[in-house]
Amino acid sequence: SARKACNRGKESGQDRYFFYPNSDDAICFKQIAIERDLRHAIKFNQFELHYQPKVDIQGTLQGAEALIRWNHPELGVIPPSEFIPIAEEGDFIIDIGNWVIAEVCRQLQDWSRRGFPLCPVSFNISPVHLYKQHLICTIKGELRKHNVHGKWLEMELTETSFMNETLVNQLAKELKKLGMKMTIDDFGVGFTSLQYFQRIDRDKVKIDKSYIQGLNEGKGQNNIIVSSIIQLSHDLETKVVAEGVETIEQYEFLKAKQVDELQGFYFARPLPVSQFEPILQKRKVVHS
Ligand code: C2E
Ligand code: MG
Ligand code: MG
Ligand code: MG
Repeated sequence: SARKACNRGKESGQDRYFFYPNSDDAICFKQIAIERDLRHAIKFNQFELHYQPKVDIQGTLQGAEALIRWNHPELGVIPPSEFIPIAEEGDFIIDIGNWVIAEVCRQLQDWSRRGFPLCPVSFNISPVHLYKQHLICTIKGELRKHNVHGKWLEMELTETSFMNETLVNQLAKELKKLGMKMTIDDFGVGFTSLQYFQRIDRDKVKIDKSYIQGLNEGKGQNNIIVSSIIQLSHDLETKVVAEGVETIEQYEFLKAKQVDELQGFYFARPLPVSQFEPILQKRKVVHS
């Protein structure tokens, strides 16, 4: 019905979203603009990757996550939460995923040509993409084209990707052959999380930020859950990443539990390339 209302607005010629700041109509017109413009975003070069550092408990750079941003000419920067779900309804998500893979490989090649010491870069792939296309061909092609080794790439997949275990494990095998790693993203928010440990051939799990944000000075169930996930993962030879680390208390707790990698605003936000490069060079993140 929101869509219907939107269409009515459009038919009456009111397609200028900015006439309606802070109203339902504004949201509505933004939605229309997103749907309308998404198909041209790649062609017009409007996507950009930001890189968020991942560090070990000493604060040394271990890797980065590539996170997509859409620089819309009128709407400004649109976060992925606002357009990825829309892209997932159509085939755009596949174009976007392919663009991300190509862009990460291009960036790694550029860094390596300019003499930066590389770090592994992870990227997110939608379950829709996983089921619709044989991803591995794209990855192999881009690695070859940019002369990059697979050890610099990690794929992050969320729960819905694991519904077809056979498919995911086939993919994991192919990734391994290339030297790539696979991470289970947003771990703990699904319903069948523990089954992944028995069935999915993963390298790392990334504990969902909702758990990290629930940590409070060593008390409460959250802390028990987080330390149990770390312990369990380590016992099963799986590395653990904590995302959404915002405070020194969260950091100290995770440090004491020997988490392998930390990612969050406490260390650094997702950064445009120019701001990420000094970190890539220094290998250290200066705490904010
Ligand atoms: P994600 O893969 O779980 O990425 C982590 C999200 O947490 C990012 O949001 C990041 O900016 C945010 N974050 C990092 N540290 C903190 C922190 O300390 N506190 C808080 N509150 N948030 C933090 P972002 O960039 O808005 O991305 C949101 C989601 O959009 C991602 O969640 C991922 O599912 C999806 N996404 C992002 N880029 C891509 C992409 O290239 N392709 C696909 N398919 N999905 C993407
Ligand atoms: Mg992710
Ligand atoms: Mg996540
Ligand atoms: Mg997420």
